[in-house]
Amino acid sequence: MAARNPHISAAHAPAAAASDPGTLQRGLLGVFAYSRRALALVWTTNKALSIALACLTLIAGVLPAGVAYVGALIVDAVIHAADLHRRTGATVLTNVVTFVAFEALLVAAIAVAQRGISLAQSLLRAQLGQRVNVMILEKALTLDLTQFEDSEFYDKLTRARREASSRPLSLVMRTFGLLQNAISLVSFGGLLIKFSPWAVALLILAGLPAFLAETKFSGEAFRLFRWRAPESRMQIYLESVLAREDHAKEVKLFELGPRLLESYRDIFTRLYREDRDLTLRRDAWGFALGLVGTAALYGGYVWVAAAAVMGAMSVGQMTMYLMLLRQGQTAVSAALSAISGLYEDNLYLSNLYEYLEQPVGSRGGNRQAGPSPGDGIRFEDVEFVYPGATSPALSGIDLHVRPGESLALVGQNGSGKTTLIKLLTRLYQPTRGRILLDGLDLNEWDESTLRQRIGVIFQDFARYQMRVGQNIGAGDVRAFDDEARWRSAAAQGLAAEFVEQLPAGYQTQLGKWFKDGRELSGGQWQKIALARAFMRSEADILVLDEPTAAIDASAEAEVFQHFRELTRNRIAIVISHRFSTVRMTDQILVLEEGRIVERGSHESLMAADGRYAKLFTLQARGYR
Ligand code: ADP
Repeated sequence: MAARNPHISAAHAPAAAASDPGTLQRGLLGVFAYSRRALALVWTTNKALSIALACLTLIAGVLPAGVAYVGALIVDAVIHAADLHRRTGATVLTNVVTFVAFEALLVAAIAVAQRGISLAQSLLRAQLGQRVNVMILEKALTLDLTQFEDSEFYDKLTRARREASSRPLSLVMRTFGLLQNAISLVSFGGLLIKFSPWAVALLILAGLPAFLAETKFSGEAFRLFRWRAPESRMQIYLESVLAREDHAKEVKLFELGPRLLESYRDIFTRLYREDRDLTLRRDAWGFALGLVGTAALYGGYVWVAAAAVMGAMSVGQMTMYLMLLRQGQTAVSAALSAISGLYEDNLYLSNLYEYLEQPVGSRGGNRQAGPSPGDGIRFEDVEFVYPGATSPALSGIDLHVRPGESLALVGQNGSGKTTLIKLLTRLYQPTRGRILLDGLDLNEWDESTLRQRIGVIFQDFARYQMRVGQNIGAGDVRAFDDEARWRSAAAQGLAAEFVEQLPAGYQTQLGKWFKDGRELSGGQWQKIALARAFMRSEADILVLDEPTAAIDASAEAEVFQHFRELTRNRIAIVISHRFSTVRMTDQILVLEEGRIVERGSHESLMAADGRYAKLFTLQARGYR
């Protein structure tokens, strides 16, 4: 089917080939598997509303047949009364009025049921949307860093977030709609079958072609949607670059706006073309096959009329059969489009569950202590290759740091310093070799014990748009709102002085997203980050990955001096380009292209007169 649309097949052939066997395999069975889960989801979200919805659906399904039946009674009663009037001159309207009143009651009941259905639906929609979003976010908390960085996986996340929060309810609404129409149909069929079973068959067959076409096109629309994920992602990204405050500065100064907006428009134009093609085909087929159904319906009319002419039924019955045929056809097409809509919802839901069922890396072991406490950190022949990368970001790394020692990592950008820290914090797994803490492989440590022992501030530390104090408190969730702890950490991170001068002190809101949000300078943010590191008072390994680059060199040296004093019995690891800081550490590793090229103390490295000495002299000259 993709072949019909040359644009799609050309642009997405590989993706289509890759996803086709899976799509086929999942097929219709898969569709109903998700139906069940969506129903379960709705049921567990709110049982009372689900029950109400089901009952009202049942009522709204049965009543139309009742209306048709009473309609026939009215017509026959009118004819009967007219007959009586002609023969005797008497006007007896009791029956007619009773039936009309009864029909009015039924119609009112249908209206009430339908109101109730839409009320229950909107309440459920809100609860279900929230529930699914929470599920998506809870899952996000369990993911590995590598998964966030994997674009294919990120697509799944985007797709799940974009659509799936509204889909489960849509699926359930359609399921109930289907049920309602099916109930109507069964009741219509029950009445119609007295005329002829073939009339019932005619009713169903008239809708079938339209249903098949719908199903086919929903499948196509879904595949289109999946192929597009990278493009949609680019669109979302461009929107955020164009409309968010953190990019506004550069976008303005570099006059990037019009250029980016053009890419945004281009993507839309391309997607629109595909949409239009599909919609046109879908509607053309829908229209043609709908005509077939209408023709069948009118054939049925003629048949019923002929039977009435031949005296096989009363006028009232004829009216009823005609009404059943017309309403029946409406119900058939509504039911059929509900089925194809269901198919679509299910396909979209498969995304959600694909995301939710994404296996997560092992949560590590459950050990809370190592066999040789006090051994510190060891790397043994560690290698790491980023997923999809051709060469390792780190290789042959051996190192040992004991408590009370400090280590500095030195090297050019991209030499692997941050990667080493990410391995140490188990954000990534080494592709070879092992990392030990107190003689125990990192993988065997209980995750939360490990996290509590290591405090890290990365160079791209998070700047939370929350209160100043919470930005510091983020370093220890247990003290997230503990003002006394904020104060002492701020003092240690040299942040106290400027924080106390802020209008609301530690309660000052940061960031531009919120009213009265203050923005801090780069250096001030770094002091906040340092304070955050000092919140981890129980951590016995503290890592600073260049969080001090925006602080001037003498202040950085002061911060580090201070850091050293506070971490006397702990392991301190620092990444810095400032040799004034680096020279204070016990052990210095010089990294180049992922390998350790030199190691030793400042004095020994200077004496060796190698790369470190050269770089140090170069920087020292700059300061002279
Ligand atoms: P440094 O901290 O020394 O500047 P990094 O450890 O950040 O260096 O990077 C080392 C190498 O790994 C670089 O070549 C970089 O391109 C690559 N790299 C870093 N992060 C990622 C990532 N998330 N995915 C793939 N490659 C990465």
